[in-house]
Parts: sequence; C-alpha cells; structure tokens
Amino acid sequence: MRRSGVFPFCLIQVVCAVMLLVGCKPEATQPSSDQQTPAAVPDQTEAKGDMAADTVPEGARRLIAAYPDMDMRYVDNQMVIAGETVPYDDGKPKSFVELLDDCDVEDMFAMPYDTSVTRPDYLSDPGRGRCEALYKAMYGHNASEVAKNLVDVRWFGQTLQFTRINGANKQLEAVERELKSHPEWSKYFAKSSTFYWRKVRGANRLSAHSYGMTIDINVANSDYWQWANPGKGELDKIGYKNRIPLEIVGVFEKHGFIWGGRWYHFDTMHFEYRPELL
Ligand SMILES: [Zn+2]
Repeated sequence: MRRSGVFPFCLIQVVCAVMLLVGCKPEATQPSSDQQTPAAVPDQTEAKGDMAADTVPEGARRLIAAYPDMDMRYVDNQMVIAGETVPYDDGKPKSFVELLDDCDVEDMFAMPYDTSVTRPDYLSDPGRGRCEALYKAMYGHNASEVAKNLVDVRWFGQTLQFTRINGANKQLEAVERELKSHPEWSKYFAKSSTFYWRKVRGANRLSAHSYGMTIDINVANSDYWQWANPGKGELDKIGYKNRIPLEIVGVFEKHGFIWGGRWYHFDTMHFEYRPELL
C-alpha cells in the first residue's frame, strides 16, 4: 500500500512538470502577478497623493478650502478661477511697500493673521496686501460687474449692499444676528458702509471695499493709523489706538472676516471677508 501510494504522487509531479513545459506557465504565473498588483496600486496612489500635496502650496490650499463654492484650482504655479488664470508666485523678492502695491497670491500669506494680536508688530499687516487679479476674478473686474452680485443685507436698521459671492452676505447676516444680542454695542454699527469701487487713499491699488465683501462700521468709534499719526508714512513708527471691543472682533472673525485693527497700519472700523486667512 505504501508503494502504490508513492507512485500516484510521483505521477502527479510528472504531469505538473509537463503542463508547465507545454504552456501552462502563463496560468501558473498569473496568480502571482495578481497578488503583486494590489500591493503595487496603493503604493502608487500614495505616492501620487504625496506629490500632489507637496506641489500645491499652502496658500493655494487655504484658498481652495476657504471658498468651496468657487470653481478654483491650482495648476503649475497658477490659480484657475472660473476659467480665469491668475499667476500664483511671481518669484520676485519684495519690500514691505511692494507687498502691498504688487501683491501676488503667494504674497498674501507672507504675514500670518493671528486672532490673539492686540498690539501688532512693526509692519505686520496680515491681509492688507491683496492680489487684485484674484479678487477681480472672484467678485468682478469693475464696479458694474461687482454690482451685479450685490444683494441687500439688513444691518442694525440699515440696508447695506454686500456681495452674494462666496456666501459673504450670509456671513454678514450671521454676524448681525450674533451682535444683536448685545444692544449695548449698537452704537458701533450705526452709519456703516460697504461697497465703493475706489483706490486706497494715496495709493494706486484698489480698496477691499471695491469687491463688495468689506464693511466699515461706525467711524465715530473707530481709529485709523493716519488720523492718529498725522504726517507719518508707511515705514514710520506709529502709535496704536483702538476703541472697538475685542468681543465684537471675535464675532466677525468667527464668520470669516479679518479685522483692520490687527494691522500695524490699523483701521479699526474695517472688516473684510477673507476666510483664507483665518
Ligand atoms: Zn474699510
């Protein structure tokens, strides 16, 4: 019985060897190929994912995340916004004044916006530089294009015009709802203003008010660096002043608005919808 058991075993080995020789080899190797494939695919996917993350700069990622309703992507050092192309990084080293006057998308993130800053450092103006081409692509290239997207927002008894793009009007309404629970603050919000297509005073760049996503609250309780420091220029040391309660600022920031009071060149009435910086 033992011998008869050995013989069939040897016969099976011989048959298998013959099958391999006459063309079963591809079938025999196929399973090992299949086994390798699942291991290889995740590796490649992971590598591609890492490469994509590495090649999309932090600022571009922040913009894409901050404006989910906007058709926006990053390709080869460019932001593509609703089909319009805006260069991301012009590669130029810039002085402080050039960061304001010739600001590309990358430059907008050069100074981090810190919600705990109450005495901004010398020349720390996070968000004061804006890439005009980027905001024009989002909100409109001229006054009439921006105006097409302005809608009424109720604001402490006023009706203000604010852009509906990126849901900025909804965020301003949410700010008003929260601030209303503090009637003692209402004096800060009277006589507010929003849309006005214009250049920054004394400069050749557009004010953020041009895009319809910026509000100035009551000037009567506000401070502006040039009014408080007459005769001083952009690079001079200046004194800081603010009369706006920081609790008010916190409500705006919670809804995506940066505050001009966190700038060395302070503008404490000024709140601007810039969720990419928060
Ligand atoms: Zn303003």
